[in-house]
Amino acid sequence: MKDTRLESNSTPAFFFDKITDITPDDIFSMGGKAVGIDLDNTTVYDSTLQLFPGVAEWLGKISAAGIPIVIVTNTYNIRAKLISKKMNGLPYIANAAKPDTKCYADAAKIAGADISEFVMIGDQLFTDVQGANNAGAISVRVRYRTREILAAFHFLSIRKKEKLYLINKGLGDKI
Ligand SMILES: [Mg+2]
Repeated sequence: MKDTRLESNSTPAFFFDKITDITPDDIFSMGGKAVGIDLDNTTVYDSTLQLFPGVAEWLGKISAAGIPIVIVTNTYNIRAKLISKKMNGLPYIANAAKPDTKCYADAAKIAGADISEFVMIGDQLFTDVQGANNAGAISVRVRYRTREILAAFHFLSIRKKEKLYLINKGLGDKI
């Protein structure tokens, strides 16, 4: 686990392949006391209500370690609510407008943690990660699992920009 926090605003402090790879001890060793989770391509298949394999168990494991979890998503309220139900009724912030920083501060507050102890986990550099960095949270990027279905061209362009960003930072395939 390499701490790259100071290198740039869109560079994740930590990187994992899948969210289910992150253990409670990883979160504690980052200085985290609460966790924010993205939905699409982080915990659920893009544009669906279906959780990735192992996510339900992972949420249980994190909660059992005493780490509060808040969903922070740019998706609309009804969809966030339905997914929250599948996640044991986790609190959520929908229409979060990531990378705006307010949603991270709000989520940390809901979780009862200081923003500097709030670990935001997401798959997108220019929303999840950049916003978390600007908010003063701990940013964690996970690799996106599938190509986006809705707004496919829009996402294709975003993924290209992410790749370019990482190559320019000398991070390339490492992240
Ligand atoms: Mg996402």
